[in-house]
Amino acid sequence: MKIGFNKPHLTGKETHYIYEAVKSLHLSGNGVFTKKSHRFFQEKYGFKNCLLTSSCTDALEMSSILIGIEPGDEVIIPSYTFVSTANAFVLRGAKIVFADSLPNHPNMDVSKIEALITDKTKAIVPVHYAGMACDMDEIMRLAEQYNLFVVEDAAQAVDSYYKGKPLGSIGHLATFSFHETKNIISGEGGMLVVNDDSLIERAEIIWEKGTNRSAFFRGEVNKYGWVDLGSSYLPSEVVAAFLYAQLESMEDIQNRRKEIWNTYYQGLLPLEEQGKIKLPVHLEHSTNNAHMFYLLCDSFETRTALIAYLKSKGIQSVFHYLSLHKSPFYVDKHDKRELIMSDYYEHHLLRLPFFYDLTQEEQNLVIEEIHNFYTLEA
Ligand SMILES: *Cc1c(COP(=O)(O)O)cnc(C)c1O
Repeated sequence: MKIGFNKPHLTGKETHYIYEAVKSLHLSGNGVFTKKSHRFFQEKYGFKNCLLTSSCTDALEMSSILIGIEPGDEVIIPSYTFVSTANAFVLRGAKIVFADSLPNHPNMDVSKIEALITDKTKAIVPVHYAGMACDMDEIMRLAEQYNLFVVEDAAQAVDSYYKGKPLGSIGHLATFSFHETKNIISGEGGMLVVNDDSLIERAEIIWEKGTNRSAFFRGEVNKYGWVDLGSSYLPSEVVAAFLYAQLESMEDIQNRRKEIWNTYYQGLLPLEEQGKIKLPVHLEHSTNNAHMFYLLCDSFETRTALIAYLKSKGIQSVFHYLSLHKSPFYVDKHDKRELIMSDYYEHHLLRLPFFYDLTQEEQNLVIEEIHNFYTLEA
């Protein structure tokens, strides 16, 4: 394979900070680099309270405990998303009510959500697909009207904005991912953002294995013990040190990714104009954080052929998200509604190689080969 789908980008400072963390002999969680990372997000984006986690999956599981999910509660989640968005709530006994995607974007179709709300509904979990914001004004309005929690799955949405507000700052809770396929990485990694004051104290306890250890270390209580549910959700300082190096280079990383995104867009625009593919739409209330570049093929068969053609040229392209409402684990639990758009993205969407160190030359080759495919096909 000449051009892979993803290659983690190193800023150069990661090993230096890891060395500092190791030398300090504070290797467990919630040390200097964890606190620096929390402060970075609080200052740059105005997040109320941040807690680094070992993954976005962990942050979603914390959310599920934090909002008090009990067996039988219903949670509204898009079907076109990663497994963890739903699984985190199913672990606590929730029934997932799947929402369909928009006709022009994989984000959930907010105009169809109200019809899904019942007296058992506890939360809405919007996923900002490709870092493009869901219609948060409408989601927050519904949440207020029906007394629901909103957990933003902002795994892909670091450094993106909805009507000028940073994604992750709007819902009661928000979760981020620093998995190596995301914009900002720490190998595996994530973060829970707590914007609702009333949830902050408990979030910290859940984070620290159900103990009030953080309050103890701040001198607020004179002994610490088991006070609630929890688990070990905090990453070690070695991971936080890696992350902090990435955060310091956020601007550079984002600028380069936006360049790559624009090059793909301009290079593939002629094919859209010829009606052969569809390019990502820019929802007007959102910024684009250049998390990924995808195109939409006109059929499942064309997509399969395009993947094979690119592969024969040494280029790795990938599709993703098998609609969760049809997954082997949930198909029998789903309420049988058809989710046409979710299935559409499952069958038509194709992601192109996208990473900081993708060279101009490599990118030109990807664009050229996609043009070649459609010339040969005609
Ligand atoms: C990547 C991703 C996750 C999972 O993140 P991890 O850090 O790997 O647990 C969850 N939801 C969405 C939408 C994602 O893209």
